[in-house]
Amino acid sequence: MAGQMVKGGCLCGAVRFTATVSNHVGACHCSMCRKWTAGPMFAVECAGSLKVENETQLGVYRSSEWAERCFCKVCGTSLFYRLVGKDFAAISAEALDDVSKLELVGQIFVDEKPAYYDFANKTKMQTGAEVFAEFAAAQAKG
Ligand SMILES: [Zn+2]
Ligand SMILES: [Zn+2]
Repeated sequence: MAGQMVKGGCLCGAVRFTATVSNHVGACHCSMCRKWTAGPMFAVECAGSLKVENETQLGVYRSSEWAERCFCKVCGTSLFYRLVGKDFAAISAEALDDVSKLELVGQIFVDEKPAYYDFANKTKMQTGAEVFAEFAAAQAKG
């Protein structure tokens, strides 16, 4: 995947990581992300490039059959979502040290977005059903 190596970490600095990501940010409006991050989750995707420097400080919450949400055990910062048994993680954009080049390109689970906010950004918009269908199609292709 094209991208650049970036660094990031939590609020207190107990967890630091590196990853190779593009500057494309996706926002997820699903109820779980909103509960977990206290807002929509802004994330940059990375394949197998995520390397956590101090795993012992990393809390792991199995939020569904297929995914885990990882956070700092000390300060509670939401850090990334990863698929169990697959090389895929969605890293919180705000966990990156430098967010100056990021661009919001997509929004998912727009059908779960609460009515009290709306982004002015013009982005791709997908419902939860559309996200699952795209994921299933990608899996079928291998
Ligand atoms: Zn921390
Ligand atoms: Zn979500």
